Amino acid sequence: GDGTARVDVRGRDEIGRLAAAFNAMSSRRAQLEDLRKSMVSDVAHELRTPLSNIRGWLEATQDGIVAPDPALVASLLEEAALLQHIIDDLQDLAVADAGELALHKEPVHVPDVLDQVTTAQRSNADAAGVRLTAGFDGEPEAYADPMRLRQAIGNIVSNAVRHTPPGGEVSLRARMTDGELVIEVADTGVGIAPEHLPLVFERFWRVDKSRTRRTGGSGLGLPIVRKLVEAHGGSVSATSTPGQGSVFTLRIPTTGP
Ligand code: ADP
Repeated sequence: GDGTARVDVRGRDEIGRLAAAFNAMSSRRAQLEDLRKSMVSDVAHELRTPLSNIRGWLEATQDGIVAPDPALVASLLEEAALLQHIIDDLQDLAVADAGELALHKEPVHVPDVLDQVTTAQRSNADAAGVRLTAGFDGEPEAYADPMRLRQAIGNIVSNAVRHTPPGGEVSLRARMTDGELVIEVADTGVGIAPEHLPLVFERFWRVDKSRTRRTGGSGLGLPIVRKLVEAHGGSVSATSTPGQGSVFTLRIPTTGP
C-alpha cells in the first residue's frame, strides 16, 4: 500500500475521537516513512560524492593521466577520511535516534575541554588565516560527558572556522552560571540568512547546494550537536547577520549526580 490507513467513522462520540486519533497516528507514520526514504536517498548521495572522487582519481592514474605521486595519495586519503567522517556521523545519529546515546558523565574541568578543542582546530584555523581565541569565566568544574562535550563544541568551532574568510576571527567564550554551562562561538564569517537559520540543524542541509565539498563537512555536524546537547538536557541556538558573522550558543545544565 501507500503506507496510509484510515478509519471512517461519523459522529462526535468516543469511537469518532478514537478514529481521529488513529488517523492522525497513521498519517504521522506515513510522514516518518517518507522521511526515512528521503534520508536513505540523501545518505546514498552523500556517500557517492567522495566515492566517485576516489574512483575518478584511481581511473585517471590507471589511464596514465595522473601520476601516482604523494599529491594523489593525499587526495585519496582526504576523500577516504570524508567517507569515514560521514559514516561515523551517521552512526552517532542512528544511536541517538534509537535513544541509545549513552552519556558517560563525570566531573569535567571545562577550561581543559576548551583547550582540547582549540588545540584540535588550531592547524585548520591557521591554514584558513583565521584567528582562534578562547576564554572562560566562572566555576570551572562541570558534571558532563567530556568526550561528547568536546565533540559538540568542536563541531561548532570547526563550522565557524570553515565559514570565515582569511583575516577573520572565531572566538570561543564559555561561562558557568548557576550550574548552567553557556558556550558561545562567534565568528566574523559569511553568516546565514534569517530564512536559513532554522534549517541549519536539519540533516544534510547546506547553504551551498552544489556540495562541492571544498568546505568539506558531512551536513550532519549540527544535527549531531543538537542531539549531544539535548542528551545533556540542554539546547543549541544560533543568531546571524549575513556578511558579518554568526553566533552559536550551547546551554548545558551541568549539575552533579
Ligand atoms: P556541514 O558538514 O555542511 O558543515 P553542518 O550541519 O555542520 O554541516 O552545517 C550545516 C550548514 O549550516 C553548513 O553547510 C553551512 O551552510 C551552515 N553553517 C553552519 N555553521 C555556519 C557558520 N558558522 N557560518 C555560516 N554558515 C554556517
